[in-house]
Amino acid sequence: MLYILLGCALYLILRGLLRPRKPPAPSRTGEVQTFRDPVCGVYVTAEDSIVGNFEGERIHFCSTECLEKYRADPENTSTKR
Ligand SMILES: [Zn+2]
Repeated sequence: MLYILLGCALYLILRGLLRPRKPPAPSRTGEVQTFRDPVCGVYVTAEDSIVGNFEGERIHFCSTECLEKYRADPENTSTKR
């Protein structure tokens, strides 16, 4: 009787130790950073955007058209205040 209990306890302990531990799955939801296209005001993610470099500042655009517009006339196209 005692051996059965011991065996049972041992089995449970071993099973707990041998249980594979899954690494925590990285959750990407809610962590996606968005950038505002200053030309048309659309929000874009870093992956989907066209990045322009203006005086050391990285600006994200929804398309190359917006990038070109901004490059041609940054003062008038920028909606920043
Ligand atoms: Zn745009």
